[in-house]
Amino acid sequence: MVLTPLIVVAAAQAASPLDPVAATDAYLATVSAAVRARSDAYFEGGYWLILWNAAVAIGAAWALLRSGVVARLSVKATTLARGRRAGRAFLFALLYLALTSVLTLPWSAYVGWAREHQYGMSNQSLAAWTGEWLLGTAIGTLLSALAALALLTLYRKLPQSWWAWGTLASGLFLFAGLLLAPVFVQPMFNRYTPMAASPLRTQILQMAQANSVPTNNVLVVDASRQTRRISANVAGIGPTVRVALNDNLLNRTSPAEVRAVMGHELGHYVLNHTLSLLVAFTLVAGLFLIAVDRATPRLVARYGEDWGIGGRDDPAVLVPAMVVATALSVLLTPVTNSVVRFHESQADYFGINASRAPDGWARVSLKLGEYRKLSPSPLEEAIFYDHPSGRTRILMGMRWKAHHAGEADLD
Ligand SMILES: [Zn+2]
Repeated sequence: MVLTPLIVVAAAQAASPLDPVAATDAYLATVSAAVRARSDAYFEGGYWLILWNAAVAIGAAWALLRSGVVARLSVKATTLARGRRAGRAFLFALLYLALTSVLTLPWSAYVGWAREHQYGMSNQSLAAWTGEWLLGTAIGTLLSALAALALLTLYRKLPQSWWAWGTLASGLFLFAGLLLAPVFVQPMFNRYTPMAASPLRTQILQMAQANSVPTNNVLVVDASRQTRRISANVAGIGPTVRVALNDNLLNRTSPAEVRAVMGHELGHYVLNHTLSLLVAFTLVAGLFLIAVDRATPRLVARYGEDWGIGGRDDPAVLVPAMVVATALSVLLTPVTNSVVRFHESQADYFGINASRAPDGWARVSLKLGEYRKLSPSPLEEAIFYDHPSGRTRILMGMRWKAHHAGEADLD
């Protein structure tokens, strides 16, 4: 006898008491083997992208160092800045970052556009993608050059303690970015509008109000311009914080699924996750700066003469420093992923409690599985996942349901 997937789910749900593991397996079984294979391939390919991205960045830096381009850029920045050391550091960073962005554009286009199309995720033409790449690269290069200026100035003036002051500066920089991004940067890429009146909007605002979230901070973002992915997010800090659900979520899921996702996002807000992530990532920045402080002088001592760079005054030390930071970022992947996943897991529990929609949560977790492998091994999840996997999330919902017999929102 062939059971349709929904009958399998219904049968597992009917067991009394509900067996959370069996109910989770029944949900997972509703996804066809072909869809599973595609999302597994997409996500597992992402593991390799961590290495390839680092190889491309380090390879480009190494080639520009060996060919003497970095040394020439340093001279050029000195001429342009007419002897002002701050100007020299800023201009060097600006020129170097812009040059590497252009050199690695083919790779960025493969990862950000071609690969997304290959897996049916993207809604963008190449021209639209390129326009956004230009805008994003311009903003990113300018902000990164300002950050590099701050760090290079500290490095030059405070040889012993620059990394400690640099950590503090990184924290301030992250804070400013979190504060300003929803006001100045995100509106350059997407429109954020208040959600139109509907019963669902009333339910979301009720859930927000019940959890002390100001309701004027709930917005809809037109993410379908770029992608098919369903998603929602919290951005901002203090006065600029807002919760945004994307239009794909509204168009592709049921009201119970939207409520479950919004419960999760409200969780990030109520639990002050922007603040705790700010603290966590400032500490991570400190680790990077300590590594850069220890390893960069060794690289420069060994290769600096070949590269034609060196000395505390030369802003070109930024390049070997970025090589060190890139290598460390690969090694720290499990740490940064786990820091984020811990917060996501907290928001999941909050959202299931706030929405009381464990089945909506399960169904939307399956849809998120379009771009995140649904059922990884525990080790794989610990290393590569910045959100709990679909299996983990559905199991959370089914455990909640098993412990709240008759209380769940069933639509
Ligand atoms: Zn989240």
